[in-house]
Amino acid sequence: ISIEAVQVEVLINDIIDSLKSYHPKCKINFIHTGAKELYSDRMRLKICLSNIISNAVKYGRKNSDPYEINIQTNLTEEVYSVDVEDFGIGISEAELPKIYDMFYRSPKNKDSKSTGLGLYLVKEAIHRIKGQVTVDSVLGKGTRFKLTIPNQKK
Ligand code: ATP
Ligand code: MG
Repeated sequence: ISIEAVQVEVLINDIIDSLKSYHPKCKINFIHTGAKELYSDRMRLKICLSNIISNAVKYGRKNSDPYEINIQTNLTEEVYSVDVEDFGIGISEAELPKIYDMFYRSPKNKDSKSTGLGLYLVKEAIHRIKGQVTVDSVLGKGTRFKLTIPNQKK
């Protein structure tokens, strides 16, 4: 783990740009408030943000219509909080405890390229940067992941 100043708004905008071309029907709304620089491990931070955001984009659609996801972040002296919300397929209560397991994929997941590794890596990475991840989901309605990551400025 190596702590450096990370421009969080820039990091998320880069992630959004890299997803956009693959998911032209998804409108990604992003609002950042607060400070600009988070002291944390850039690589672990990117693992967390890119997996949660790409899941919202991937599983946030219900049919072939255009759809939206919402990303809200706030940075204080103490903590970076991230809220990623989609209105897609959702996750059943029975499946929720398994989503962080290595190689776990929902049986309903039709994305043949998905490996089930993303959230496992998020769990590892967020632990290393002393943060937390929580999820709220309603099957058929949507999903909200929240991350809280400490600002490790010494
Ligand atoms: P990978 O991220 O490696 O490409 P993956 O997306 O299948 O593959 P995870 O990111 O670990 O793997 O997610 C595990 C499973 O949890 C997914 O297969 C999907 O079924 C479910 N899931 C994760 N995020 C969401 C979401 N936002 N909405 C609905 N289901 C989700
Ligand atoms: Mg994934």
